[in-house]
This record gives sequence, C-alpha cells and structure tokens, in this order.
Amino acid sequence: MTQEMEKVDVLIIGSGPAGYTAAIYAARADMKPVVIQGLQPGGQLTTTTDVDNYPGYKDGITGPEMMEDFKAQAERFGTDTRWGMVTKVDFSERPFKVEVDEKDTILAETVIIATGASAKWLGMDDEKRLNGYGVSACATCDGFFYKGKEVVVVGAGDTAAEEATYLAKMCTKVTMLVRRDEMRASKAMQHRVFNTPNLEVLFNHNTKSINGETGAVGVESVTAVNNITNEETIIPASGFFVAIGHKPNSDLFKGQLPMDESGYLIVEPGTSKTKTPGVFAAGDIADHVYRQAVTSAGTGCMAALDAERFLADQE
Ligand code: NDP
Repeated sequence: MTQEMEKVDVLIIGSGPAGYTAAIYAARADMKPVVIQGLQPGGQLTTTTDVDNYPGYKDGITGPEMMEDFKAQAERFGTDTRWGMVTKVDFSERPFKVEVDEKDTILAETVIIATGASAKWLGMDDEKRLNGYGVSACATCDGFFYKGKEVVVVGAGDTAAEEATYLAKMCTKVTMLVRRDEMRASKAMQHRVFNTPNLEVLFNHNTKSINGETGAVGVESVTAVNNITNEETIIPASGFFVAIGHKPNSDLFKGQLPMDESGYLIVEPGTSKTKTPGVFAAGDIADHVYRQAVTSAGTGCMAALDAERFLADQE
C-alpha cells in the first residue's frame, strides 16, 4: 500500500504569497515542490481589489492578477500546482502523511504550512453584497482609496484601534462602532484612539445595515443602532471596515502542532520551524501581527530555505 503512495520532498499547503514564494525558492533549488492550493486558490489577496503596497508593482496591481503572477513564477521553475484541499495530516513520523480531498495520500519529507488566516466578518448580507465596493477587512490594504472621505470601523480590539487611527490620518472622519461599553484594545491603543480628534467612538453600537449600491456608487452610509436605547443613527461613510479579528486556518493541525490560544502556529523565533522537525510554517498562519503580502512572502522564502537545509542535513 505504502509503495503506491506518491512521495515528494516538499509539500506546500496553501497558495497565497507565502505558499507561492516558498514554491519559487524550493523549485529553483530543484526540490520539485507540490502546492496544494486549498479552498481559496491565491489566498486572501484574491478578495482584494488594488494592491499598491507590494514592492515592484510600481503602478499597482489587482490582488487576483498579482496572485496569478506568483503562480506563474512558481510554475516557471517546475512547481506542481494542484487543485484540492488537504483534509488530514499525520506528522507523527517521517515521511509525513498528507491526505488530499479525503482520498489521495502523499508522503512528504518536508511540509510547509501556508494556510493563512481568514478575516472574521459580521455575517450580514450587506457585507457580502458590498464587499469590494466599500466594504473591506483590511485598512492597510484599502485605506488609501478613502483618502479625504468618511469611514466606519467595526471592532474594539487592537486591530480595530490600529486600523481606525491609521485611517484617521487620511480620512476626514472615522467612526468606530464598539458593541460594548468598553474597548478590548490595550490601554496604549485606546489612548491613541481617544486622542485622535477626527475619530469618534460610539459605544454600545451595532451595525444594522450598510447602505449603498455595487458598482461606481459603493457604500454611502451605515445605519448603526444603540443596543441599549435602540436609537438608530445614519452615519455618512464611503468605507466600512470590519476589524473584529482573524481566524488562522489551523484546525487541520490541532493536536499535531503547538499553537497559541487563538490558533496561530508557534514557530521558533526568527525561523519558520515548528516544533516538529521538517514541518515549517509561513505567512499569516504563524503571524497575527504583520499580516501583509510582503511579510508573508518573506517568511515563505525562509520556510523554503529552512526545508532545503533540513533535507541537506538528512543526507
Ligand atoms: P480581538 O479578538 O482582540 O478583538 C476583536 C474585537 O472585535 C473585540 O473587541 C470584539 O468585541 C469585537 N467583535 C467581535 N465580534 C464582533 C461583532 N460581531 N460585532 C462587533 N464587534 C465584534 O482581535 P484583534 O484582531 O483586534 O487582535 C487579535 C490579537 O492580535 C490580539 O491579541 C491583539 O492584542 C493582537 N494585536 C496586536 C497588535 C499590536 O500589538 N500592535 C495589533 C493588532 C492586533 P468584544 O470586545 O465585545 O468581544
């Protein structure tokens, strides 16, 4: 049975900037990487419109186009990119067993995990309808497009506080909707929020609707409701930023790899090494702080180099 299984040196799970950068490096080092693309080929960037902060694209590029470029570059050096979802892993012994689509098992000498994270959403229909037309989950990615405009940010953690203060530098007015009577963000971040003149915090407020049309119009306003008085407020806004946290896509690795209380994989600081020799992690799956395409690409490169050195040491 085992003899029939496919064997690879490097198996990469995930196809965002981390996965493809790992693939580019691994393929150029002749490690013949296989990339299992996952549920959202190209990763989170495929849901973004314009990317203006990735070095090298001086005129900007759309997220989906950029990820096609990453893929083409990885395939140029012989990366084998496959549709499919990894449904089970067994890291108890090498070669590691990785099951794809609940049927095929691949034996891998090394595994690079680049499954990323997913932004949490409120779950409203308006959010889906207007995603890309004013609704975003990433101020660093999309904030620039709201320069000189008014925006709303939902959330009360460090991410929301950071995004709101970032947006306040370029927007005329930022309104934060906080569902409780206090913020979860650190005191230092709250201090920054309360000392930003064009940033207003509405405590005990939930989002009732996001108003606007798809196409050129986009988001026009947000209806917020005070969850104590039920009073409704219509807030003029061109952008609606959801900043209620991210969920790392790590369910597959529960019980196999150490993770923090939020589910982010733990790596040896300054490397991509997980606790299991031969298993590496890159990108947002192991980074709740930076979460940028360029930092993910950087750690993808590290993972491929770590895997290459690991394999060399085994010889
Ligand atoms: P958190 O889980 O810390 O906060 C999420 C926030 O969203 C909470 O305030 C929560 O409200 C709110 N929220 C959740 N669901 C809803 C909802 N349905 N409607 C309205 N509000 C909602 O996530 P973060 O992304 O902010 O932070 C994650 C981790 O990353 C934290 O440990 C944080 O400290 C860290 N971080 C650190 C930074 C830094 O050091 N510079 C920057 C960014 C993040 P409630 O409080 O009521 O539960």
